[in-house]
Amino acid sequence: MRDVVELTRKLIERPSVTPADEGCQDLMIALLEPLGFDVTRIDVGDVRNFWARRGSASPLFVFAGHTDVVPPGPESKWRSPPFEPTEVDGVLFGRGAADMKGALAAMIVATQRFLNSESQPSGSIGFLITSDEEGPAVDGTRQVVDYLAREHVEIDWCLVGEPSSTATLGDVIRNGRRGSLNGTLRVSGVQGHVAYPELANNPIHAALGVLEALCERSWDEGNDYFPATSFQISNINAGTGVENVIPGELDVMFNFRFNSEQSPETLKRAVTEALDNAGLNYAIDWRLSGMPFITEVGTFTDAVSASVTAVTGQTPQLSTSGGTSDGRFIAPTGTAVVELGPVNATIHKIDEQVVTKDLELLADIYAELLRRLLSAGPERR
Ligand SMILES: [Zn+2]
Repeated sequence: MRDVVELTRKLIERPSVTPADEGCQDLMIALLEPLGFDVTRIDVGDVRNFWARRGSASPLFVFAGHTDVVPPGPESKWRSPPFEPTEVDGVLFGRGAADMKGALAAMIVATQRFLNSESQPSGSIGFLITSDEEGPAVDGTRQVVDYLAREHVEIDWCLVGEPSSTATLGDVIRNGRRGSLNGTLRVSGVQGHVAYPELANNPIHAALGVLEALCERSWDEGNDYFPATSFQISNINAGTGVENVIPGELDVMFNFRFNSEQSPETLKRAVTEALDNAGLNYAIDWRLSGMPFITEVGTFTDAVSASVTAVTGQTPQLSTSGGTSDGRFIAPTGTAVVELGPVNATIHKIDEQVVTKDLELLADIYAELLRRLLSAGPERR
């Protein structure tokens, strides 16, 4: 049962800060090829991706994930070095432990176990792995999805190993995600001496009111599948660094997480109307990071839920909250996409960690899911 923990450790040791892969994918491929997987590497620029498939029959079930991790932040604040996997009382510390090297290890170990007992499954298994999920996500999953479209490969079911669990392993399964829309706003004023404000135009003062109004605004109430749309300012910069100068510009970055009650156009219109009404001189750049998607309750979500229940005894809740994931690139092709992975309480934080027992249970859940979806024999449930 330790194999999944050992493999997670080997992945954490490789300091694959996005878009670096540092040999994580080589390690995975070296384990998949002996199981009969055909591997295609799809590298684009600095980004490493691979597609692996065993068998050609339908249905096609795919594990999707990423080998890159976010930067560790100040290493001195970690209880142990972020790229030295360290186990204390059944908890494994290291950058990527929960997001999402532990899930990658569980996918491999589950596949090994399943194929050990079932060498001729009814259907085929794929792996869609990138090193560009935490970064711009342009040269990663998107490129593999394009490749699969050119090759006429259609994925029936896809499990993304993102850390969906909140309190205990398997308590939450994500069957969709909100959309994400980014805005970069520059408000222009007139620079001047703080003692002569009548000769300047302070863009900070001009923008404060409308920014606060945008923060306070209720965008919608959500719907059956999605929580309410939210607006967050992530960066705000102005000033020359000295005490006696009114700055000439204010730069703001903000993000919408939006549900299917909104479209990028309705949100853009609402923001520009507010800025216009405030009389600001501004320019704004928009970047749509992903549209909302939903995998409706059915065969696949039922199989994932039943696998969790079989292993942990608990009934998971379906949810569309949380950040975006590469599921947004896979779902539009008609694939049923579900996310199920470790507890997400420490992801992207100092001292990221995962309970080692959870890694073992996660491998059990993934193996159970393979049995439920792809078993050929009478054991199929
Ligand atoms: Zn992740």
